Amino acid sequence: MADPLTRPHRVPTPPTLEPRYRVGHGQDLHRLAPIGTSGGRPLVIGGVRIASTIGPIAHSDGDALLHALTDALLGALALPDIGEMFPDTDRSNEGRDSAEFVAAAAKAVAGAGWAIENVDATVCLEQPRIGPHKGAIRASMAKMLGTDAAAVNVKGKTREGVDAVGAGLAIEAHVVVLVRAVGAH
Ligand code: MG
Repeated sequence: MADPLTRPHRVPTPPTLEPRYRVGHGQDLHRLAPIGTSGGRPLVIGGVRIASTIGPIAHSDGDALLHALTDALLGALALPDIGEMFPDTDRSNEGRDSAEFVAAAAKAVAGAGWAIENVDATVCLEQPRIGPHKGAIRASMAKMLGTDAAAVNVKGKTREGVDAVGAGLAIEAHVVVLVRAVGAH
């Protein structure tokens, strides 16, 4: 298979006429397990470490929110997705800080002449509740993206005890991002 980083693909540059916005969407899910010998990594959401006895099973650091954010940024430009850019078969991605994935995607967006207008995210997690951490998560993501915290929103949802997320067996994140044309660099 062709290397996704080098394969031919068309990076859309800002048009001189409308439309001057593009939207991107990302979704990610990680199974959860007791932290330690059961395979769970420390729980990190949006780059913020959260006290928990359970954490994600993952090749990287398992930050589902940052993985969804990365895919939303890449998706806005119709670029290869996070799995193509950073395959979990690549040992260099093992335990990797997901902020690096976000940084690479944000760099691609900026380099193609687009600016982030706003980000809206939802984290589905039964326990622990992320409500008390929302401000820190917003600030963390805004810092990674170089935006004001007001441009980043995070919501926490439970699944009312239904399905794998509701049973506390997984964490899921959804992100949408709007990017604005600022001119080709
Ligand atoms: Mg992931």
